[in-house]
Amino acid sequence: MAHRVLTGLFMHETNTFSIQPADIPAFHAMLYVDTHEIAAKLGHTNSEMGGFLESADRLGWDLVHTVAAIANPSGKVTGDAWDAIAGKILRTEGDDGPFDGVVLALHGAMVTDRDDDAEGALLAALRDILGPQVPIAITLDLHANVGPQMARLADIIVSYRTYPHVDMRERGKQAAALLHRAMQGEIRPRTVLARRAMLEGIDSGRTDTGPMVDLLRQVEEIEAADPGVLAISINAGFPMADIEIAGPSVTVTGDGEDARFQAIAEQLMDQVWETRHVVNNTYLTPAEAVAIAADHPADGRPLVIADYADNPGAGTYGDATNLLAAMLEAGLPDAAFGAVRDAEAAAALHRAGIGAEVTLALGGKVDPRFGGPPLTLTGTVVHLSDGRFVCDGPMWAGVEKSLGPSAVFRVAGIDILVATNLLQVIDLQTFASNGIDPRAKRTVALKSMQHFRAAFEPIASAVIVADSGGLGSPDHTRLPYRKVPRPIWPLDADTQA
Ligand SMILES: [Zn+2]
Repeated sequence: MAHRVLTGLFMHETNTFSIQPADIPAFHAMLYVDTHEIAAKLGHTNSEMGGFLESADRLGWDLVHTVAAIANPSGKVTGDAWDAIAGKILRTEGDDGPFDGVVLALHGAMVTDRDDDAEGALLAALRDILGPQVPIAITLDLHANVGPQMARLADIIVSYRTYPHVDMRERGKQAAALLHRAMQGEIRPRTVLARRAMLEGIDSGRTDTGPMVDLLRQVEEIEAADPGVLAISINAGFPMADIEIAGPSVTVTGDGEDARFQAIAEQLMDQVWETRHVVNNTYLTPAEAVAIAADHPADGRPLVIADYADNPGAGTYGDATNLLAAMLEAGLPDAAFGAVRDAEAAAALHRAGIGAEVTLALGGKVDPRFGGPPLTLTGTVVHLSDGRFVCDGPMWAGVEKSLGPSAVFRVAGIDILVATNLLQVIDLQTFASNGIDPRAKRTVALKSMQHFRAAFEPIASAVIVADSGGLGSPDHTRLPYRKVPRPIWPLDADTQA
């Protein structure tokens, strides 16, 4: 008989210091797909759900869809959004069950108005309905904050192994394959967890350099050598969350209960602790970054500057102005900057129309303590769009994204992309769909931490990283942590493991 499997996708990375909540419109602005449209919209994409669907086809599952919803990282998920989305996952048992298994795509760093460990709460509610026997598999982002509740309630945990994240579909297939073996009675998966007194580590999870490279090599060796080790996940954690379970972790999903699984997790976690000082980025001030850009030769390829501290992918506001101000002051020629999330400015530029000269206040409006005040700028509207585009880069190939109504505002030598929605720049199409060819620019400044590297490093003559003072600054000592257990590294310098 075909296995009947409950599935869903509910993801949010919550920056608890952000004053902007993730409400229902925030999910609709990024991804909100109803039950009957999930297969058509996500089946072909590089997403966990794409992997689940492919596996369900191959393994002959009867897949019961619930919801697929993602909001851009931001402040806490509201109770209304939680009720609407988690409610779809939780109310299906009566109508559509019983289920032989569950496979969910989660982030692992979601915080709601009610729960600091939202994934743990979702799994607890699901267990209340399904009981302890039905196997549950979850996929997580590499930046998951995994606590004991998640490890206890999910039998199978599979986290991404790439940052930039490009293996979502593959991880979806891996989780589905393990769930299938569990449903067939071949394995009895259980997951154990190791943590240390640390808020961040493993060079923020970078997999192009740094300690993760060696750790992931070991993970593959251990999995290959020990058939009882079903999946090991190295989670870098998400530090901008003032919750008890923030920070890196290692999970080991093993077949049955055996002390060696915990020992493997602890041994790998020791290495996470020992490498905590490794940071391969050099964080430049805006003035330093702009000085490098001014000296950079016009060699037919752009210098790419990441506005690291205002990465909307870490729940920042996307409207920090300090780097843009420095670029304007230096008079950089032939540059692009994006995207500034400022719905008011985008609307004003749309009202003015292409070719109009406009003076307006741009950016710095949500919380100017982080990243600089609004800039009063005079420039010309050179492009307008509805902001919708289809990604063609390695991360989200084929996925449609939307900046909302958008405009290109040319001020001196800089084409500034102004957007309505909050969105990290990780794909060349973010610029190209707005008439800016990033390959043809001398300098491209973009709001992203690490994900941009997948699409932008291949076209760049060099990449540099700036700390503009935005909410996502690597200097976490500025943030008022209250709930993380102290002492914790790096907030307390003398922390012991
Ligand atoms: Zn991530």
